[in-house]
Amino acid sequence: MIRLFRKKKKAIIVFSSDYQLGLSTYGDHQTFDIYKYQRIRNKLIEDKLLKPKEIFQPTACTYAEIGKIHSTRYITQLKDPLSVNRLLKIQVNSIFDNSVLEYYRAVCGGTIKAFFAAYRYGVPVFNLGGGFHHAYPEKAEGFCLLNDTAIAVKALRGARPVQRILVIDLDYHQGNGTRYIFRDDPAVFTYSVHATLWNDEPAIANMDRTVNSDITDKDYNATVAEDIHDVLDKFEPEFVVYIAGSDPYEKDTLGDMKLSREGLFKRNMFIAKLCEEHKWPLVVLAGGGYGPDSWQIYYDFIAAALK
Ligand SMILES: [Zn+2]
Repeated sequence: MIRLFRKKKKAIIVFSSDYQLGLSTYGDHQTFDIYKYQRIRNKLIEDKLLKPKEIFQPTACTYAEIGKIHSTRYITQLKDPLSVNRLLKIQVNSIFDNSVLEYYRAVCGGTIKAFFAAYRYGVPVFNLGGGFHHAYPEKAEGFCLLNDTAIAVKALRGARPVQRILVIDLDYHQGNGTRYIFRDDPAVFTYSVHATLWNDEPAIANMDRTVNSDITDKDYNATVAEDIHDVLDKFEPEFVVYIAGSDPYEKDTLGDMKLSREGLFKRNMFIAKLCEEHKWPLVVLAGGGYGPDSWQIYYDFIAAALK
């Protein structure tokens, strides 16, 4: 095997400059910090936890990969900037401006790269973005255009001998699109903790947990630990995807949960340690997180993994 690293790396970071959302933020979306992931990357480098050349650079996901999850009709819509406007309820600058789709394709390519890297190297792999868990095969929802988790699950399973995948989704919002996509698949277990339920249609390998917005750090983390215990009684994963949403943070400008920076750090490390103990390959996706302080939550997690 080609030696990739001089020293064995503790974690891998996936990012490219194409991850900048090609969107001026205003209206409902002004709460997006479009420089969030660039900021995390820069801070990791500044703190000497990461060298630019160590970053795994993805290429945009292909339409063939998208087509394993999303319908042909939907993909035709995606290629038209005006219908992307309608799907996401935004405005782009011109009918020739496909930068919003290109952003999603870039990050989705990163999620695919993260899956293959986690499988190959057996260390946690962090995509600096992704976790578009509201996207359905035929529709966009909650600012998610492509379901990157589902697309990457299909890509990995198509190419590597791995089947049983656990998706742990601790974003403020429910992983409703991912749940729907795998509703008939016993080998993809979706577990989601959220403040509001978006979809409770039947799904055969699923656990959903709605918590009160004012739940404390202690109760939240205890709930997650108990639930995971129950999930593992029912399902034995070979591979774990963790959507580490930062939007349950008390300083989040969109969500109304009250979890602290320390509480979220404990949550994130619990999942990382669990996967390490069981030797499950782990992919971490950023999920949601809004406002000027949001980046710190994901940064803390990645910095600890790299140390
Ligand atoms: Zn969210």
